[in-house]
Amino acid sequence: MPRFAAGVVKFQNEVYPQKKELFEQLSKGQAPEALFITCSDSRIETAMITQTEPGDLFIVRNAGNIVPPHTSHTGGVTAAIEFAVAALNVPHIVICGHTECGAMKGAMNPEGLDALPHVKEWLGYAKAAVEVVGAKGEGLSDEARMKMLLEQNVVLQLQHLKTHPKVAMRLATGDLQLHGWVYDIKTGGVDAFDEGKNEFMPVDQRYAAEMAKLATGGCAA
Ligand SMILES: [Zn+2]
Repeated sequence: MPRFAAGVVKFQNEVYPQKKELFEQLSKGQAPEALFITCSDSRIETAMITQTEPGDLFIVRNAGNIVPPHTSHTGGVTAAIEFAVAALNVPHIVICGHTECGAMKGAMNPEGLDALPHVKEWLGYAKAAVEVVGAKGEGLSDEARMKMLLEQNVVLQLQHLKTHPKVAMRLATGDLQLHGWVYDIKTGGVDAFDEGKNEFMPVDQRYAAEMAKLATGGCAA
């Protein structure tokens, strides 16, 4: 019996009874706080990192936390975005990349992906980020270039997100916020993009103003 199947039995016997009310409430509908787009990497545990409960995050995962730019072509990511933004009316969208990302390593060295043609084509959506690193990362260490790629890929996918009509519409009416994050698998750190400053900074710094408001009991939007 695989461990994950044994886990279901444990969940039903030990975890579910403690949260029975929450699950019964959730059976009536969902109103997630965010559409959370991250990598499929097994080392990212979204609920643990964000300390959220079932019902809090509408999640899309794929290799490289990629959002293809909008076209007339229907894809899984596009449909999920449309549903989250126009049907569930999520107030936030997070794109969360991460350190040690195999997809981003592949994007940096696409010649090594000939045996994985779909992965290779998919990572074409990160090509502009690779180009930015090529232009701005000259002379930097491999490690620094990879950090730059992880961040630039998140910034690029945020740009792609804005090409989706329902996202553009909600941004125009001012009731949708976009967030770009990079999660560090080894340290548990999360850096968040500050669009005004055009840089990534630790999440507690990025959201310092909102956290101060929360602490003083002010209105937390
Ligand atoms: Zn990854």
